[in-house]
Amino acid sequence: MAGIAWLVTASRMSFSWEINMGVASREFDVWCQPLLNAADQQCVGVEILLRWNNPRLGPIPPDVFIPLAEEHHLIETLTRYVISETVRQIDVFPKSPHFHVGFNVAASHFVEGKLLRDLNHYWFSAHPHQQLIVELTERDDIHDVDYRLIREMHRKGIKLAIDDFGTGNSSFSWLEKLRPDVLKIDKSFTHAIGTDAVNSTVTDIIIALGQRLKIELVAEGVETEEQAQYLFRHGVHILQGYLYARPMPLIALPQWLADYLPR
Ligand code: C2E
Ligand code: CA
Ligand code: CA
Ligand code: CA
Repeated sequence: MAGIAWLVTASRMSFSWEINMGVASREFDVWCQPLLNAADQQCVGVEILLRWNNPRLGPIPPDVFIPLAEEHHLIETLTRYVISETVRQIDVFPKSPHFHVGFNVAASHFVEGKLLRDLNHYWFSAHPHQQLIVELTERDDIHDVDYRLIREMHRKGIKLAIDDFGTGNSSFSWLEKLRPDVLKIDKSFTHAIGTDAVNSTVTDIIIALGQRLKIELVAEGVETEEQAQYLFRHGVHILQGYLYARPMPLIALPQWLADYLPR
């Protein structure tokens, strides 16, 4: 923990140094977590998740370094790294337009066409077969989102997901502004199923909202059969969580797909 505490209080210069050093020496690893279609238990895609094994400070969880990278305006550097590393290992994924690969992207990247330029450069230039999904994560500074960029992304067939839906500020206004294809139900709502009356009511409301607006629903953090069954019964068919698979290095995915037996 000493390493993490140091990182949190580090000056802008030393944090930037750590991140840039980490990128240059490839201390970051690209992991992924499968998403399942609960109707037939097939793996329909993955979410890409970043890991940092810092040799000077020890492993640093993304919940620590991602917000810091956002604060220090280094998140886009990391996003470019994640996409290019994923593309470098693209052969781990089934070569199918029905298999999707989802990246977490911070709101700050959604301005002035920046994200589309990076996606063209790092993703589309490799002509991948898979469906691209962009999960919009940080939404505090969303006021400068470039709506032309969003429209252009839709035209290019990129799917847009709102991550952690129901947490943070002004979730509802994003539906109208961004016209997302997917809502990801935050794991706090998944975990509330059968345990917390208030939050599980919110879960039901999010599900109803997605269904009325015909937005695909994905639930994250599914850990128990009870949660999976509840979600499925209520029409949430795409599920992600430890019940099915923990995040794994990209390199481990082909073996997982080969061994995975539908439940
Ligand atoms: P997220 O986007 O909401 O990702 C889901 C998180 O839930 C991941 O944590 C995943 O490991 C964890 N998770 C998955 N299934 C379960 C489950 O069944 N139970 C529980 N308790 N947790 C589960 P992780 O990998 O630690 O990432 C944390 C957050 O860091 C992510 O939350 C995302 O906001 C951010 N992050 C990770 N990688 C990236 C990245 O490449 N770029 C950006 N911008 N953010 C990233
Ligand atoms: Ca996410
Ligand atoms: Ca999430
Ligand atoms: Ca989250």
